[in-house]
Order: sequence, then structure tokens, then C-alpha cells
Amino acid sequence: MTFHDLQIVPSILKALSMENYTAPTPIQEQSIPAVLAGRDLLGCAQTGTGKTAAFALPIIQLLSEKPSKPSSHRPIRSLILTPTRELAIQIDDNVKAYSRFTDLRCAVIVGGVSQKDQERALNRGADIVIATPGRLMDLLNQNLIQLRHVQVLVLDEADRMLDMGFINDVKKIISKMPAQRQTLFFSATMPAEIANLVKTLLVNPVKVEI
Ligand code: AMP
Repeated sequence: MTFHDLQIVPSILKALSMENYTAPTPIQEQSIPAVLAGRDLLGCAQTGTGKTAAFALPIIQLLSEKPSKPSSHRPIRSLILTPTRELAIQIDDNVKAYSRFTDLRCAVIVGGVSQKDQERALNRGADIVIATPGRLMDLLNQNLIQLRHVQVLVLDEADRMLDMGFINDVKKIISKMPAQRQTLFFSATMPAEIANLVKTLLVNPVKVEI
């Protein structure tokens, strides 16, 4: 199996060959076709399995095939929520590498650093935002970020977001997005509270387990 077999387009294939990715990992083989087809996804996978590319590659492809009008302000079309600053920065690095030959822009919204730089990045326009829940809530409360054009939501390491006490923030953030959207949900474990969230957020999801 190759990334080409998974219908990945040439601009992304070129970026993957620069990363020396020769073949998709099992989670990528299972996730990429489902996400490209517009399905919701429930993934039980740990970091280290190639999970980031499993959601990032099809999102980049879906968004680059439907570009924002160049004249208008670019709305946020995909939001990736992850529990820690380190994970957010890592995902941002990966998304930037995979999308280097597209015209998509991404921005990272995390705590512990100046909010002003992040506001500037949002004002320039970002198609994909990678965020931790705390700082994103701060920006939402100040009306500095708009989520009403989000088409694809990723919840990464949902069980860790629960453990870290972010679950109410996550629910509030989700309430600011359109109900009609694609949701990709990743969690290494499935405690009752996470299982309930899955039930309310996902519609007929494809289940991927590694
Ligand atoms: P992740 O599980 O997303 O944190 O990825 C773990 C590591 O595997 C990262 O360093 C990725 O850059 C790398 N990786 C992801 N997919 C592939 C692939 N298909 N081939 C080679 N390396 C990969």
C-alpha cells in the first residue's frame, strides 16, 4: 500500500517524500480513506503510531481541494484540539510540513506565550488552527476567534483532556461550531465520560483501532 493508493494528491505526496515517508502506517491506511469520504472517525491509538498524519493528511487534502476565496477573509475551517502545548506545537510542525506545497495556512493557539502573536496569526487568516483548550477559551471569551466556519474538528487524546480537567472547556468550544461538521475523535482509553461524549459528537463513525 502506498499514499498514492490512498488517493493522496501529488502536492501532498511530494511533501511526504521530503519527510521520507515511504508507506502509510496501519492507522493511516484505515483512517485516510474514511476521512476523505467525509466520515466521522473514532480512533483508539497512541502517539507514535502515525496518528497525526492519519488525520492531518486527509484534512489538508479536503481543504486544499476547496480553497477559500482569495479575496475574502480566510475562516478557520479545521480545528485540532489537543491537551498540551508540546503536542500542539508538534502537530503544527507536522501540518506545516505536509501542507508546504499547498496554499493553506495554519496557526497554533497555546498558553504560556504571548497572546498578541496568536491574535496576529488569526487576523492574517488561518485555515487550520491547532489549539489547547485553555488559551482557545480565553480567545473565545474575548471574541477574538470565530469557529462558525469549522468543517472538520479533531479531538486528539480526548482521555488526557478529560484527566486534565478540560472537558467543560471542550464542550463549550464545540458549542461554538456548526453542528453539521466532520468530527475525528482520538482517545487511547474509553472511560464512561469519554464514551458519552463520543455518543453525542459522532455520527455513524468509522472505528479504527491500533
Ligand atoms: P505520531 O504518532 O503522529 O506522533 O507519529 C510518530 C512519528 O512517526 C513521527 O515522527 C512521524 O513523523 C512519523 N511518521 C508518521 N507517519 C509516518 C510514515 N507513514 N512513515 C514514516 N514515518 C512516519
